[in-house]
Amino acid sequence: MYKKTLATATAVVFSAALFAQTKPEETEVWEPVPTVVTPGKINTDAPSDAIILFDGKNLDQWVSVNDPSKPAGWKVGDKAITVDKTTGNIQTKKSFTNYQLHIEWRVPKNITGTGQGRGNSGLFLASTGPGDEGYELQILDNYNNKTYVNGQAGSIYKQTAPLVNANKKPGEWQTYDIAWTAPRFNSDGSLQSPAIVTVFFNGVLVQNNTELKGPTKYIGKASYEKAHGASPIKLQAHGDKSEPLSFRNIWIREL
Ligand code: MG
Repeated sequence: MYKKTLATATAVVFSAALFAQTKPEETEVWEPVPTVVTPGKINTDAPSDAIILFDGKNLDQWVSVNDPSKPAGWKVGDKAITVDKTTGNIQTKKSFTNYQLHIEWRVPKNITGTGQGRGNSGLFLASTGPGDEGYELQILDNYNNKTYVNGQAGSIYKQTAPLVNANKKPGEWQTYDIAWTAPRFNSDGSLQSPAIVTVFFNGVLVQNNTELKGPTKYIGKASYEKAHGASPIKLQAHGDKSEPLSFRNIWIREL
């Protein structure tokens, strides 16, 4: 009797150690560190069949995540959108399934902070709920800024490190060019096929047909818990104290 109870208790402790991850550090990966690559010049013009999500003028294609009936509260000026951390995340009015997306972002030249607290934002390739729910392609200043590699710019946050570090200096415009294949679900809600993403960062391949394990999780391992269809694309107003990022020239081609 005692023996059996002890075995059961051991099994419970063992499975708790396996499955109940409780700290964000448990899913951080620090090595190997992606090699630094200096990007070349690339073309950023929208092709003729693209839907323009931001052309430098207004946020008409975007809404507030906190209240999607309200316009996006970030600032437009100098042909760019600048994050307003007091108003929270913003997302596209329209929902998307499979697509090619181009977006440009800039970390302010005077950026301060370290690690995840230095120019943190994020591109949620599909938003699966309010706040930070969704599949996050990380945006961060990793020009001489060390952090866990599956949390640096070009990572699928807490899942897949970028193949290389193609960051430009703070103050310079940087580009993401993305091919996104949304996950597919069976009629009973179970996963049919995972999301797949390819990402070029400043024209350099950093994610090559990467399979996603599920929507991003800050703590614990990602998995597909809930079926979803077409979803908005979302930009993150991260809660760190560093100076806010800007975005420009955002266009998409539905596939
Ligand atoms: Mg982020």
